[in-house]
Amino acid sequence: MKVLVINTGSSSLKYQLIDMTNENVLAKGVCERIGLEQSFLKHSKIGENAVVIEKDLYNHRLAIKEVINALTDDKIGVIKDMSEISAVGHRVVHGGEKFYQSVIIDDEVKKAIEECSELAPLHNPSNIVGIEACKQIMPDVPMVAVFDTAFHQTMPRHAYIYALPYEIYEKYRLRRYGFHGTSHKYVSERAAQMLNRPIEELKIITCHLGNGASICAVKYGKSVETSMGFTPLQGLCMGTRSGTIDPAVISFLMEKEKMTVKDISDFLNKKSGVLGVSGVSSDFRDIQEAAENGNDRAQLALDIFCYRVKGFIGDYAAIMNGVDAVVFTAGIGENNDYVRSKILTDMDFFGIKIDEEKNKVRGEEMDISTPDAKVRTLVIPTNEELAIARETVRLIKNGN
Ligand code: AMP
Repeated sequence: MKVLVINTGSSSLKYQLIDMTNENVLAKGVCERIGLEQSFLKHSKIGENAVVIEKDLYNHRLAIKEVINALTDDKIGVIKDMSEISAVGHRVVHGGEKFYQSVIIDDEVKKAIEECSELAPLHNPSNIVGIEACKQIMPDVPMVAVFDTAFHQTMPRHAYIYALPYEIYEKYRLRRYGFHGTSHKYVSERAAQMLNRPIEELKIITCHLGNGASICAVKYGKSVETSMGFTPLQGLCMGTRSGTIDPAVISFLMEKEKMTVKDISDFLNKKSGVLGVSGVSSDFRDIQEAAENGNDRAQLALDIFCYRVKGFIGDYAAIMNGVDAVVFTAGIGENNDYVRSKILTDMDFFGIKIDEEKNKVRGEEMDISTPDAKVRTLVIPTNEELAIARETVRLIKNGN
């Protein structure tokens, strides 16, 4: 069974074709600048060099058509024709309160995803465009939606309700949702496998540290708390996002700097975080290099980032009354030993101790704790595409 995994952005479309008999990726790629000039598709057949195909991709339907052309091409393709694609799995950012797990997409589901657009105006409309484009080109292929928010729907009410007048929640469903759910679920399940223990008896803190970053408390296999909120702006300091600040900062800045609603949204989402503090970059490699060369603000950005992560780990250990494992994943979590080490220094009070030699690992699964540490610290590369493909197969086979 071959599953096509699609992740649609406003002007981009990422894809992977996975053979689910052995979970091997056959091909992957990305369409960029959809609807803009100089659009192109970058396609890789696994084991071969990537090829770039320049093509006018006026819309997502043309992009999907081009993806199918590449996948079925004599030279760069991996399948004979479209009929070899058994199902399509779509990443959908926001499932609101309606979707607490993945679903097979039908007209009713599509309508419900559209209704969630108000909660994720930057993401859900693109996801719907991707779903519609696939439906037009592959009308008979079953499709599944896998939501970033679904895993966190198990959070208790006292965790997800903001301390605002309750009517606002009732009126707008304004509450905390959390994101990166597919990744937190995948790495927590993988952690249980690595520890050779049932997830139902484990308390795990998963740290998804990439350009967007969030932490999750996974108690007995269920998300009970996560750092992002109504939008992915809450929580940790990130590449360009501020994370949690005093809400009064917003009215202060709007008044003093004469900022509009859009200005303040761009300021907090695109100009803040480690980019804003360092003034160097949103990429941790650049910031670390600058810090090593004596740039004090770059060092400050790293200090703030690590300090916040440390705080959340302590917070979640308290919430769960203990922790068995801490997991690091995503670009920074998987690759940056400096950040991991800085976060975990002086956490022996919690039973967290790492072996600095083992901590040098990059992009590979590894238990980096010392043998005597009470808490296991694990590096686990995330694989959201595989998680989406697995969900797709599960739903197609079982129907729920
Ligand atoms: P992500 O959003 O998961 O792609 O993560 C992006 C962040 O991960 C950037 O700040 C990068 O500095 C960091 N990152 C990604 N890949 C690597 C790598 N191979 N080595 C070190 N840092 C990396």
